[in-house]
Amino acid sequence: MDLPAAAPAPVPPAQAGMLCWSCRGAVDPPDNFCRHCGSGLGENVPWYYEKVWIGVLTVFALGPFALPLVWRSPRFDEKGRWIAGALVAVVGAYQLYACCQIYEKVRMAMSMIQAPM
Ligand SMILES: [Zn+2]
Repeated sequence: MDLPAAAPAPVPPAQAGMLCWSCRGAVDPPDNFCRHCGSGLGENVPWYYEKVWIGVLTVFALGPFALPLVWRSPRFDEKGRWIAGALVAVVGAYQLYACCQIYEKVRMAMSMIQAPM
């Protein structure tokens, strides 16, 4: 009994530095999903971790609550993460300020409506 001539090459071990962005487990370059935690890799990273969508979510929906997305996103390097985090914090602080202004104007309008003649 002889071996077939074109035996498949053994799967090489995971290259050094190829780690899952979510769980830091070893992954192979062709993997689409982490074999440890199931997180998408490469093009399969969830949409809400993309830079553009973090910006959209920050401005229109989450405000400062988008900071965890910035922190967990595999799309930022260390410097970009700090810059994006600072931008999200500034936008969130402005949104909080604007909310306080709106609340104060509504409160003033309500007090004028309820004022005795
Ligand atoms: Zn993982």
